[in-house]
Amino acid sequence: TLESRDVAAWFGDRLVLEGVSLTMPAREVTALIGPSGCGKSTFLRILNRMHELVPSATLGGEVLLDGTDIYAEGTRAQQVRLRIGMVFQKPNPFPAMSIRDNVLAGLKLAGLKCDDKDALVEQSLERAGLWREVRDRLNSPGGALSGGQQQRLCIARSLAVRPNVLLMDEPCSALDPTSTRRVEQTISEIGHDVTIVIVTHNMQQAQRVSDHCAFFLAAENEPGRVVEHGPTEKVFTEPDDPRTYDYVNGRF
Ligand code: ATP
Ligand code: MG
Repeated sequence: TLESRDVAAWFGDRLVLEGVSLTMPAREVTALIGPSGCGKSTFLRILNRMHELVPSATLGGEVLLDGTDIYAEGTRAQQVRLRIGMVFQKPNPFPAMSIRDNVLAGLKLAGLKCDDKDALVEQSLERAGLWREVRDRLNSPGGALSGGQQQRLCIARSLAVRPNVLLMDEPCSALDPTSTRRVEQTISEIGHDVTIVIVTHNMQQAQRVSDHCAFFLAAENEPGRVVEHGPTEKVFTEPDDPRTYDYVNGRF
């Protein structure tokens, strides 16, 4: 379980996120929704310490993975990012590197050993729903795949280091509908054994893939806050806050 407690974020002296306390249950899918600029990506990056790569950024509150503070003194960011992986909006495989080496790239960067690389490559691609499409061309460059295949390759690369959590920031927004469906299938399948937090602007997608949903909103000149969170079904059909109702029904 991944948990944020009273998380706040500043860029310079500008507060962009305040009071975000969310529990993202293990081996379930949590969707983060809300208008542009309300701090969803910022929050996602806080969840695996990528936030601290921005020099002007500061942080308040705590993030706990299975009860342990990921920002605790002596905990290295690189270790955290191995346990909590990230997939981005734009697929970013190493384009000239083979499909096989792309899958193994995270492992190499982390200095992890693996006794049976072929098995790991197959298993990771299988879990990402890409194995059947690429099994005969594992030595082709990652850049030769379609956008949707590249995104699943990136998911396979993330899964190869066996993370507890996978963070996904609008993973389908650069993809066509067919590829989007494939990635959604992958999310639904791996969502049973990896904790997933996905940011999406697609309300149907949030309903299709997520178990829990959090609605972020930033009022004018205010930091982003979580207005509502709960089971996806409830957030979409009988939200407590009228602003949630308006947002999920496309009213703003
Ligand atoms: P979108 O849906 O458009 O992706 P978002 O909800 O992901 O939006 P963020 O990207 O988290 O929003 O941005 C939240 C706020 O923080 C915005 O006002 C943005 O301008 C600001 N911000 C984000 N990154 C930085 C940065 N590196 N430096 C300064 N301000 C930033
Ligand atoms: Mg964003």
